[in-house]
Amino acid sequence: MALNTILVVAEAHDGGLHPVTLELLTKARSMAPDVHAVLAAPEGGEALASELGQYGASTVYLAEDARIGECVGGFATAFAVRDAAAQASPDLILFGQTYAGRDAAGCAAVLMQRTVVSNIIDLEADPELRAISTVFGGTQRVATAMSGPAPAIVVVRAKSFEASEKGTSVAEVVHLTLDLPRWVTAARVAGRAQESASGPKLEDAPVVVSGGRGLQDPKNFALLQELAEMLHGAVGASRAVVDAGWVPYAYQVGQTGKTVKPTVYIACGISGAMQHTVGMKGAKYIIAINKDEGAPIFKLADLGVVGDALDILPKLIAEVRSRIN
Ligand SMILES: Cc1cc2nc3c(=O)[nH]c(=O)nc-3n(C[C@H](O)[C@H](O)[C@H](O)COP(=O)(O)OP(=O)(O)OC[C@H]3O[C@@H](n4cnc5c(N)ncnc54)[C@H](O)[C@@H]3O)c2cc1C
Repeated sequence: MALNTILVVAEAHDGGLHPVTLELLTKARSMAPDVHAVLAAPEGGEALASELGQYGASTVYLAEDARIGECVGGFATAFAVRDAAAQASPDLILFGQTYAGRDAAGCAAVLMQRTVVSNIIDLEADPELRAISTVFGGTQRVATAMSGPAPAIVVVRAKSFEASEKGTSVAEVVHLTLDLPRWVTAARVAGRAQESASGPKLEDAPVVVSGGRGLQDPKNFALLQELAEMLHGAVGASRAVVDAGWVPYAYQVGQTGKTVKPTVYIACGISGAMQHTVGMKGAKYIIAINKDEGAPIFKLADLGVVGDALDILPKLIAEVRSRIN
């Protein structure tokens, strides 16, 4: 099926664009001649529109409205998507699978009376539009053929595609004025709290040092923090320790946590359940430390160390420190 127009739903993030937005634009460019983006943000949209152009958006539908930052859920963005789609007539609308993207995709699907397919890692357009997801820990691919009326709405996992700039293309900016009904604006976000963090974000870090139940005590995460800081990396965790309250949910890697794709992933005391590995098996090099030589994580590991992580980590930290000093 030849796709003519794809609309990418852009997401503002930390003063720039969310990396998944750039990944989606890059993929969209490879699938359709005409790529548009829609951005709903309380402010600062014009600056981001030029970056959207550099990644291939020929037109950016920009809804700048202070209420967007105050609305609960994804309806404000969904109204912008609906209005942009009315002008662009896309065959396909792509959302990034972030918290905001998931909310907005569901709301947009309701507003536009379309189905939405989520958790997608790839897209094919030939011979028909297919959204690809995986099951059984990423071992099997499932293709969902999307044959209903356009636009198809798809939510794509971060890191499914590599982002690359198109060049110095300039996007035409079309301003949207949102007509938000009372039921969207009635509930408002009263305040936001940001967890303090240092070092790179888990999703962007070149090195991730992750811990599981094998670390035996939450205080042993200090070893991971120390190692991660020396390697300019971030600390991750298995769900078992997040559920146990050892570390916040933001650390969780896996099916119901974050997907990471670092150069090096160091799994310490993590068994390697498929729900965990689905979130980290894209790492370039995987190092596992586990005292059970039969642990499933060793099937994935490029380097496996059989032993007690609580013995090995202090030695590894001392060795790394001696080399960087
Ligand atoms: C629907 C669903 C979604 C899920 N989503 C996720 C997800 O997103 N992320 C995720 O991680 N899990 C997820 N899980 C849970 C997953 O199935 C596993 O239960 C979890 O990953 C196990 O965590 P763990 O490896 O830390 O713990 P365990 O399975 O208990 O493994 C601990 C490991 O540590 C080793 N060990 C023990 N002591 C030491 C030591 N001193 N030194 C070295 N090694 C040691 C053991 O040999 C063992 O291999 C999900 C489960 C379900 C059902």
